[in-house]
Amino acid sequence: MGKIIAIANQKGGVGKTTTAMNLAASMAVLEYKTLVIDADPQANTTSGLGHNPREIEKSIYECMVGKADIRECIIESEVSFLHLVPSHINLVGAEVEMVNLSNREEKMREVLKEVQDEYDFILIDCAPSLGLITVNALTASNSIVIPVQCEYFALEGLGKLLNTITIIQKRLNSKLEIEGILLTMYDVRLRLSNQVVEEVQTHFKNMVFDTIIPRNVKLSESPSFGVPAIVHDAESKGSLAYLSLAKEIADRYNK
Ligand code: ADP
Ligand code: MG
Repeated sequence: MGKIIAIANQKGGVGKTTTAMNLAASMAVLEYKTLVIDADPQANTTSGLGHNPREIEKSIYECMVGKADIRECIIESEVSFLHLVPSHINLVGAEVEMVNLSNREEKMREVLKEVQDEYDFILIDCAPSLGLITVNALTASNSIVIPVQCEYFALEGLGKLLNTITIIQKRLNSKLEIEGILLTMYDVRLRLSNQVVEEVQTHFKNMVFDTIIPRNVKLSESPSFGVPAIVHDAESKGSLAYLSLAKEIADRYNK
């Protein structure tokens, strides 16, 4: 059965989508069958992998409200072994539509169960919120990767996220683990960047991934080409960092 990993942090702009796309692509390059779920109505993973969200007819939204089967939504990508379930702006409405459903926190888990056997890893790119869709993602997942930007206020909101994780572990998903805290957009030349790394490592110790993601222009420009950085420039520092993260996670999984 594939491992399901949510990429979540309610703070925007910390590198969730960049991580979801590039970690998924790196796992696929390592020949793990990988599915990435775009669970953000902004649909940045969908467009970053070369699909126009406005043209998507069947998204994770239709699956969660019972209007489509997940198999109808899966699309292939430029990278072998990498598949995508796209998002659509309609996902915004799903939170309201689902309010009266029974087991409304468990819709994504039910949807992913159908294909979990067919993949080694399923990664979920979450929206910058702790709303119902993110709660669904965390309820469906075996673990969570928390990207933290090496910037001012890096730790802001992390307490609230950890608190939400504890509540979900108690009430909805006792198996949810923290895969790790991922330091992103690290700039070796900046004192601040180094201070944040030190602070996070001191505070969270072995919860922090060994791999640190550098600030790298190939990572920020590859979505405009509709491909992950590893396709855009396989030798770039950003691509190599995500490959190293994929190995770090896969090595633990295989042990
Ligand atoms: P989130 O999904 O958490 O909102 P994104 O992954 O979309 O964050 O990242 C926010 C912005 O920062 C995007 O423009 C993205 O291209 C850029 N970015 C993310 N990670 C890096 C990085 N390591 N190096 C350079 N730019 C990055
Ligand atoms: Mg995003």
